[in-house]
Amino acid sequence: MGQSYNVAVIGAGTAGLVTARELQREGHRVTVFEKANQVGGTWLYDSLVESDLLGLDPNREIVHSSLYKSLRTNLPRQVMSFLDYPFVKRESGDTRPFPGHEEVLRFLQDFARDFGLMELIRFGHEVIRVELVDEVSHDWVVESRTRETESRWESKEEVFEAVVICNGKNTEPKVAEFPGRDTWPGLQMHSHNYRTPEQFENKIVVLIGNGPSATDILREISPLAKQVHLAFRGSDIKLINLKNYDNAWPHSPIECAHEDGKVVFQDGSIVEADVIIHCTGYKFHLPFLKSNGIVTVDDNRVGPLYKHIFPPSLAPWLSFVGLNYRALVFRVIELQAIWVAKVLSGKVKLPTQEAMAASVEEFYEQMEKAGWPKYHTHSLQNDEGEYASWLAAQSDIRPPKSWEEITFFSFVKGIFGHGENFRDTWDVDKWIQEIESSD
Ligand code: FAD
Repeated sequence: MGQSYNVAVIGAGTAGLVTARELQREGHRVTVFEKANQVGGTWLYDSLVESDLLGLDPNREIVHSSLYKSLRTNLPRQVMSFLDYPFVKRESGDTRPFPGHEEVLRFLQDFARDFGLMELIRFGHEVIRVELVDEVSHDWVVESRTRETESRWESKEEVFEAVVICNGKNTEPKVAEFPGRDTWPGLQMHSHNYRTPEQFENKIVVLIGNGPSATDILREISPLAKQVHLAFRGSDIKLINLKNYDNAWPHSPIECAHEDGKVVFQDGSIVEADVIIHCTGYKFHLPFLKSNGIVTVDDNRVGPLYKHIFPPSLAPWLSFVGLNYRALVFRVIELQAIWVAKVLSGKVKLPTQEAMAASVEEFYEQMEKAGWPKYHTHSLQNDEGEYASWLAAQSDIRPPKSWEEITFFSFVKGIFGHGENFRDTWDVDKWIQEIESSD
């Protein structure tokens, strides 16, 4: 057994649950703070939407999950499995290779129960402050609040030796900017607040974006809507074939919007629309972290972080699990959680603070040279395989050889190759079996 610390984990979504399990396995004492009353995070569907549908009002009551009711995974269950806990098909469940969101939630609930994590979680506890109060003893104050009545909150401060932040990255909307946005008279919302298609019946809708949310929503609303206009950067959309929709058209990004309801696109086309839905992704949001400016969020870069996890000058006492995207998220989260737990217990050593800081700087320079924008810092789309192998090696894990071939990028290629109904037309089980059998 290595060192054992008193560790706070913020969030009981996928990252928080896996982190809690790994910390516990390493003999740490773990308290998980979760503002909801259940585990699951993103996968806990909530029919409620926020009062400000664009998510611009900082005082709005936040709804955490961004799922729409009909959502099915865009990755198959095999890659949403954990190393020793596969996401298996249950006879009574949703056995499709790309299951509905309820099935993922059940998987995470089973995971929490089977690893005895429920006892570690303080439900209904929202963390409102994480602050280092003693650098020598690395004491962190975690202040959390619980709702006593509709308008009264009770708050409490506790001290921990280490904190792992797992608060998710798909809640705070990133919204498209264009002149006239704030005075345009129609309804605007972010896909974070989209649940079902009924309200778009007979409406002229502009969707901004061409990622999975935009294309899923287009597919769902076009049978009801009068017209759907998809505004996006670039020249092609690979996730949907608009020729299959007689009331949907592609456009370049929005140039501006007018008070008479007109939306003007950069290609010169104009529509008089009723609704604009921003399917434009999310921002990292760490309102509770008071780090004296050591860790900042700048143009969606959380940093400086060594390997997306440890701020060099606060390591290993502060860490982040689950910041990465455009990756097989469950797999990456598990490897990160294992590493964090082992670093804390002292079984795995970190480089010196200076070496970690230099590594972060080098990474930023590489990004700049490659012309990769800052806001893509935590996207792993170019180096997921290398990153996962590096993390696995740190913790002495030998992943199956198939991991080299089964990456987020290979799924994107498969999805593009199978068209918009890939969830039902792609025999992904066979594809995975073939790769695994050649291991
Ligand atoms: P979350 O699941 O967001 O969990 C964060 C938790 O922290 C929440 O429970 C929240 O309540 C809690 N929390 C936040 N702030 C506080 C606070 N201050 N105090 C206390 N608790 C707090 N991934 C896939 O692998 N496959 C898919 O098919 C897929 N589809 C997706 C579809 C959509 C529409 C979206 C938005 C995401 C999808 N993802 C998918 C990515 C998804 O984000 C991850 O699967 C995973 O849920 C991330 O887990 P997490 O724990 O990092 O964050």
